[in-house]
Order: sequence, then structure tokens, then C-alpha cells
Amino acid sequence: MTIFIPEDKVLEIKNSADIVEIVSESVLLKKTGKNYVGLCPFHSEKTPSFTVSPQKQIFYCFGCAAGGNIFSFIMKRDGISFPEAARILSKQYGINIPVKTMSKEQEIQRSEREKLFEANRQAMVFFCNNLFSGPSGKLAMQYLNKRGISQETIKIFRIGYAPEGWNNINNFFQKKKIPFDIVEKAGLIVKREKKDGCYDRFRNRIIFPIFNVNMHVIGFGGRVLGDDLPKYLNSPETPIYNKSSSLYGLHRARQKCRQTETVYIVEGYFDLLALHQNGIQNSVATLGTSITTEHVHILRNIIGKDGHVVLVFDSDDAGMKAALRSLGIFMNAEVDAKIMLLPSGHDPDSYLFEFGYQSFFDIGKSAKSLISFLIDTLIDKYGLSVEGKIRVISEMRETLASIDDGVARSLYIKELSERVGIQENAVLEKVRELSFRNRSSTKKNAFLNDEFVRSHRTKGYQKADKKKSFHGKWAKLEQQIIAMMLQFPPVLSEIDERGILDLFEDSRLKAIGDLILAQQDRSDINIVDVINLVDDSEEKGIVASMAFGENKWDYDGCLNILNRFESKRNKKENTLVNKIKEAEKNNDFELVSKLLSKKQKLAVLSEKKKMALLK
Ligand SMILES: [Zn+2]
Repeated sequence: MTIFIPEDKVLEIKNSADIVEIVSESVLLKKTGKNYVGLCPFHSEKTPSFTVSPQKQIFYCFGCAAGGNIFSFIMKRDGISFPEAARILSKQYGINIPVKTMSKEQEIQRSEREKLFEANRQAMVFFCNNLFSGPSGKLAMQYLNKRGISQETIKIFRIGYAPEGWNNINNFFQKKKIPFDIVEKAGLIVKREKKDGCYDRFRNRIIFPIFNVNMHVIGFGGRVLGDDLPKYLNSPETPIYNKSSSLYGLHRARQKCRQTETVYIVEGYFDLLALHQNGIQNSVATLGTSITTEHVHILRNIIGKDGHVVLVFDSDDAGMKAALRSLGIFMNAEVDAKIMLLPSGHDPDSYLFEFGYQSFFDIGKSAKSLISFLIDTLIDKYGLSVEGKIRVISEMRETLASIDDGVARSLYIKELSERVGIQENAVLEKVRELSFRNRSSTKKNAFLNDEFVRSHRTKGYQKADKKKSFHGKWAKLEQQIIAMMLQFPPVLSEIDERGILDLFEDSRLKAIGDLILAQQDRSDINIVDVINLVDDSEEKGIVASMAFGENKWDYDGCLNILNRFESKRNKKENTLVNKIKEAEKNNDFELVSKLLSKKQKLAVLSEKKKMALLK
């Protein structure tokens, strides 16, 4: 689908939207001087190199060279096109963009993702309507009431009900003329294996729509009303739903997480709803998986590197195993994680229902660090007999071996050895054995992280690599000149008249320079406009990076650089003449012809320059 965003609407968005505000939705920013910095959402880093300039309304990451303006940020963040980004911003800032009716053909061209979002959205409305007014919705509503879910919570989280029967959603979409393959791809219906046809995936279940942070429905979770199995059923992985990077409730939790720099992680839908309903909005739930590296990444970007994660677990064995698995992930992401254990027989939902919010908080305050929790639990389980100690250490060592940070690892080993009363060296030895054996698998994990960052955070890494190739012999001076053009527009006419850009060796930089010159008749050069004019997202980054410099330009300083650049280029021409003479002497005709064509190129350029001067 080609959406057309009129120029005046783009301008309106630009004037109303604030890049700091938009970036803050997904990155915790801290003010430093004129700019804001935070951890880059496009590559994995421990110290912030992601910089946002409120004055210039641009961002740039000094780590992976991602950069651009508010539109490019959203495009990169969500992996969407410019018009889509403009639409998101216009919605957020209440700017009305007229939508043209689409032809059949355009409809077909619409991106698959958008179709899937739309199918899910319609399914959500269908499920909601069924809960509130469908013939069998009453029972579902009674069930929700029984579990203490308020009407308000039901509405906020758009909880619904999938009625009994095999063809309800199927018929609904057929009536809407939404193609079968889209509904199937969204995971809402399932093809029959042997016969033709298909059936509804969710039947007689309470439905929890799962939103991404842009409020798109990416998938669903469904719980049976009775004791049928499986108790919970989730959407399968689809092009828009990946459970290892999705968190239930994140769309409602984000702001509070940022404010409190804390996030509670629970395991189930009802637990999460109970927390939110009790005013603990900074909570999310994993979706039938244990915590993944992706989850921790996402959360850390929101709560910041000094933020806290509190894992809320039932005191059962499954929770314990999940904690063991997640310890290494939190350690490696350098995120402080505590574990909050509820009295046996309680999950967060039932606990809050019975004892309320204050009591929950009190337990939260005494939450143990993950490592102490693990040691305590294992000691409880195995005791401190010689055999017990050995079992405690052997269950801990895999987790300890998976911690990449040597300092953290040895601190934990120390703690463990003290607790079980075995010499540190002996514990260390055990862990070391395993580290060596595991080395290849640890590497694999690190690789997976990179893979994640690559696929989810656009092409940050590749870009950084490409950027290196960009440092040619002349690139530095040429970059400086582009920066000068962006930061000190008075020099533009000089650059134009002297034909400086024609002397550029780097064609990309020259193209950017040309774009800036094309703007010079306007009263003010707006970097944002230049970024919009550049098509390639890598070039957007280059422009942003150059606009960021804090150089103090003055006219004389600029002229100096321009003179230096010109004289260097002339020198190059002279050395070229010498090289040709040399090659001729050696009868290296191949080289001679190569050098001659180079010289010719330069001559054409300087001719152009002269012409420009005569104009
Ligand atoms: Zn970055």
C-alpha cells in the first residue's frame, strides 16, 4: 500500500513531535549538557553512546552509527516505512492525515505485517464482543469475576472470550472477506491435517490479547474455563509474534517501569492482571517461556542500567528452575535481579487477592538477590551434609559457569563457598571444569545474542562495519566539510562557488553535500530536512553524526579548512603527474593509462570548478 503523507502534514508532525519524548518511550535517557544519552536500542552496549539532541531533533549512536531524526528513529525501531512512521506520530500527536480509499490492487500490496495486525485487531474485537454480549459470554464473565478481575481491568486489557465451536472465527473472517491465508498465518485458525478446511484455534477460552508497545495486537493467549487441557494456549510464532521477545502487559507497564526504574516479572496472565489492578503497573508477564536474553534487553532499555528486576515466583519447583536458568542471563546483562518468593500455596494473583498490595510490597522489600535465593533453596533442599554440599555445588556450577563477567563470577563463588563451608578453590575448580567444557556453548549463546540484536535492532552492527570502510584517505577532510555545512550554513555559498564538492572523492559524501547545497536558498537549513531527503538509512546516520559535532565554527576557520582541502587536492594532482612520468620511464603502460584516466577525471573536476567561478 502506498500511503501518501502530504508535505504540510509532515511539517505539522515535525513541529509538534519531540524526539526526546518519542525516544524516551523505549530508551531511558539522561540529560548531559545540551544532549540526552541512553543505551542504544539498536545494538547491545553497556555504557550509553546513544545521543539525542533536543535542539537539533536528531539522534546518533556513537557505537553503531545509527542516526537520524524522529521519523528515522521510529522506522528503525519498528522496522517500518516512512509513511507508517508518520502515521504513528500523527496519531500520537492528534494530527489528522486524510486517508485515500484504496483500490483492490493497493489492498493486495499492503504489507503482510499490517494485514496480520489488522486480522488480530478484528479478532480481538470479535472476542471482546463475545465476552460482553455473546450467548455464552456470561459464563466467561462469571469466571473472570470469580477470579477477581474488575470490569475496568477487563476493558483496559481488552480481555475477550472465544466461544465454543469450530468455526466461529473462521465464519467471522469469511464474512469480512479477509483472506484465509492471512487468518491462518495470524494463527487464529488451523488447517485440518487430513481433510480440507480448517478450524478455530481458540475455542471456549478466555482470550488475552497480547500487544506490542505500539498497541498492535501481535498474538493471543487463551485460558480454558474449566479444567480442560491445555490450561493455556498461545498463538503460534507468526511474522509478528515472537514469544521470546514479547512480554504481556508491557504496553501498559512501560511508563511506570521507567519512572520507578523497577519491573516485576510474573509468569501468568492472571498474575499480571492482579498486579496491575492493585496499582503495581510496573509489571509484565512472560508468555509461556522462561526469561530470555531478549526480554532482559528490552526491560533494561526501559528501567536503565541501574534499574531493578524483581522476579515474582510461586514457591514451586518450576519457579525455582526458571530462576536458575535466568540467573546467567541477568548477570550477563548486568541487571540487578531479585527474587520475591510468595508463601507456599500462593501465586501473586491469589496473594494480592487475599492480603492486598501493602503486604505484597513488604515481601518485595525483603526480596533476596537471585544468587542468595538459589543457594538458600538448594541448601534447604539438600541440607549441609557432605553429600548435600556436593549436590548444592554441582547444581550451582552450571549457572556460575555461564556468567561471563569474571569479577561477578568470583564474587558468587566466594559467596557459595562461604555458605556451604567449602574452600573457595575447590568450588572454583568445579566451576572451571565446566567452563572449559562449556566454552563452545557459551560462545553459541553470545552468538545468539548478536543474532537477536541483528534481527531485532535493524542493521546496527553491519552499519558500524560499513562505516569503517568509509574512512578513506580524504574522507576525514570531506566529512569535516560536510559537518561544517550542516553546522555553519553561512559557509555554504563559498563552498558552492568554489565547487568544493566536485573535488570530493567519496561519492556518498558528495551526494549529501549536494543535498545540503540544494537547501541553501531556504532561510534556514534544517538538518531534519536534509535527513528526510536522504533515502539510505546509513546515510541518514552519517548526516546525523556530522550534525552532532560541537565544533565552534567561524568563517575564517572554515575558509582555512577549505583552502587546505583544495591545496591537498592540487598536490595530489601534481604527484599524479610525477607518477605518470615514472610509469612511462618504466614502460608500465597499464599503470600509465590508469593514472591518465585518473588525471582526466581530476581535470574535468577542476574545469567544472573554474566554470562555477565564472558564473
Ligand atoms: Zn547503537
